[in-house]
Amino acid sequence: MGEDWLARPRRPVPLTIVPVENETLTSYLRRLAAANRLDSEALRVYLTGDKRKSARVGLDTLALVSGQPRHALRYAILELATPRDLHAVHVAARPRPGGWARPQCQHCTLSRGHGTAAAWCWNLHEDPLCFRHRRWIGDGRDYAHHAQPDLSGHPDIMAANRRHRRMIRRHGRHTVMTAFREATHICDRWHQRRVHDQDFSRIMRIFHGPHWQVSATDPTIHAARYPQIVSLTKLLASPVGREKILLSWPEPVEFIAEVRRTVAPHYTWTLTGGIHDPLVALLAQERQLCDDAEGDADRQPAPETIGYPTRTNRHRSRRLASGSWDG
Ligand SMILES: [Zn+2]
Repeated sequence: MGEDWLARPRRPVPLTIVPVENETLTSYLRRLAAANRLDSEALRVYLTGDKRKSARVGLDTLALVSGQPRHALRYAILELATPRDLHAVHVAARPRPGGWARPQCQHCTLSRGHGTAAAWCWNLHEDPLCFRHRRWIGDGRDYAHHAQPDLSGHPDIMAANRRHRRMIRRHGRHTVMTAFREATHICDRWHQRRVHDQDFSRIMRIFHGPHWQVSATDPTIHAARYPQIVSLTKLLASPVGREKILLSWPEPVEFIAEVRRTVAPHYTWTLTGGIHDPLVALLAQERQLCDDAEGDADRQPAPETIGYPTRTNRHRSRRLASGSWDG
């Protein structure tokens, strides 16, 4: 493609490609270019008339060149939408551009006629699988060089995802996402130490048979750990449950029982001799932050200037009188 190409009036490419909902702009340009045997960077320059990668692709130009309606492009590819557009297309429950992108389910790609190249889409943290095709999609990092695992024999992974979504409806996405990150970190540490891995091993045997051996990047590893992460997320996302832990410190008996019942049957709470368990470490840090904040509250006359909560145990007790782990 020579320089003179840039100067010509823009016209549609021979083959159009339908954008996928939540697709990244880079992915769409790559797929559109591939379908028309063009270089994707050259296509971007053609669209913007500017060789800088930061140059903005205009909606009208892309509609003209791709042959797709403006509204279809703007709805699917949110990077093309203005803040006013975002309000108009009701994107509250959709992932915003700039977060985490991963490939679309391969079966969705084929069944919807989106071509053979995978579309990369922005995704929400509660979307690691395709319910329609019962496939583990993961987060993209564990997928690049592997097929997407079949979840037909894994009702527990599918059920974990339903629990994950219910939690979001109950507590809100931000609360659950924070708890999910904490739970993922804790389960990562346990997994590295080969502790509390009974469920993981059971699920891996269902995936690969009794003598399984896979690479460290195999997506089934993430899939097999997911139910435990969701179970721990449920305990950490519960504001009432979390307060109960701090109230019953240093030995939150009820919480420990819940962890054993729903997350790790042989879990032991060890607070002495140095904290090595990542779950204890997380909660001990939170406990310390609350203590520090309450100490500050005693010393300072203006509680609104303090960064941490200034609730006392007495206040917490009143709120928790009828609370449960599901609260
Ligand atoms: Zn699918």
